[in-house]
Amino acid sequence: MTLLDYRLTQSNTLSLDGLTSHVGNTPLLPLRRLSRNLSSQVQVFAKAEWFNPGGSVKDRPALNIIQTALAKGDLDDKRLLDSTSGNMGISYATFGAALGIPVTLTIPASASQERMSILKALGAELILTDPLEGSDGAIIAARQLFGEQPDKYWYANQYNNPANWRAHYQTTGPEIEAQTNGQVTHFVAGLGTSGTLMGTGRYLKEQLSSVKVIAFQPDDSFHGLEGLKHMPTAIKPGIYDEAFADETLGVRTEDAHEMVLRLARDEGLFVGISSGAAAVAALRVANQLKEGVVVTLFPDAGYKYLSDKNLWESTPRAERSDSEVEAGRD
Ligand code: PMP
Repeated sequence: MTLLDYRLTQSNTLSLDGLTSHVGNTPLLPLRRLSRNLSSQVQVFAKAEWFNPGGSVKDRPALNIIQTALAKGDLDDKRLLDSTSGNMGISYATFGAALGIPVTLTIPASASQERMSILKALGAELILTDPLEGSDGAIIAARQLFGEQPDKYWYANQYNNPANWRAHYQTTGPEIEAQTNGQVTHFVAGLGTSGTLMGTGRYLKEQLSSVKVIAFQPDDSFHGLEGLKHMPTAIKPGIYDEAFADETLGVRTEDAHEMVLRLARDEGLFVGISSGAAAVAALRVANQLKEGVVVTLFPDAGYKYLSDKNLWESTPRAERSDSEVEAGRD
């Protein structure tokens, strides 16, 4: 028996420990070139969440939700069930595979091909829902499945489970405080389940009372900001308190797309669409300031969006010649 075999027989949680020790503690990266027109006393940073083992910010809540359920015995002999737009499912499937917990996910059939392939590779069972109903259709399907077979499934319910926002309260918030030496003045986050905003925002406001927390969401119910919700027209997550943020901004899909290219080409950051939206919102906040440290969070990298060729092969506005713009080709 090798040493590894021996260890694996001693503890079947060894593989989970290996992955869990790499969740969180992500780098905080400065946006140097994109902030060069701001006041010299203003800095903008982003948490690089694709450094998590499952490739996104959702490793934090997924791990906390699973660990909390395991501690209570909720998952004994049951399948973990939840709705997802992709990233949370990948995190559940990653840790589920490591721990031997079977995972069933309801997911809009419109989720990118890359996400579906990753989820299948990790062994998750997928139940596809009507693309026209978006993430709300997936939520309704998960509720229905759980209602029909409560003995088979444990419903993780990321939109209403406090272990979601608490993961950010316990990890993302303290990391930002430490990485900025307590100098952060503004925290900017997008709204999906709202776990990132609520947990990180609560921690920072408790520790540093003058911190401003700014939420952003798609500016319209029809949008291409995967992972984000237009709250006025969506099922409101139970963990979301709309009175919590000091301000809530709307971001256009087109502006987020443009910013994704600028982040890649001006900063070397190959990130996903909601990260583009985060940069748009953070720079809008930073533009209003004479001094301050603005921190946002980039939820994932660009790999899962590569099949959207129109996005990556277009030319960012700043690089186009005046004649192209005048000719209306923008
Ligand atoms: N961006 C992406 C790509 C996501 O997958 C998510 C999670 N749905 C978010 C942003 C929003 O994060 P949260 O659920 O913490 O609000």
